[in-house]
Amino acid sequence: MATNVSCTVSNCYFWAKDNICVADNILITADKAAGDHSEMNWDRESQENLIQKIGETPTHRVIETACYTFRTR
Ligand code: SF4
Repeated sequence: MATNVSCTVSNCYFWAKDNICVADNILITADKAAGDHSEMNWDRESQENLIQKIGETPTHRVIETACYTFRTR
């Protein structure tokens, strides 16, 4: 099933007009996990490996999460 992702980060490589994310896959995780895994890479294979390494990362506030597929245009 396709998921529609709305995103306002307009300088991202995957951003498109009307605030649409056009990436095939995105990685959302806790900020702390991202800091612990600075080797993060945007390609799908790296993301799958990374997701396995990170595991589950519960958070308590929205500010503690973000999209780590972001790449500057
Ligand atoms: S990859 Fe992330 S930051 Fe970039 S457009 Fe998609 S949701 Fe937004």
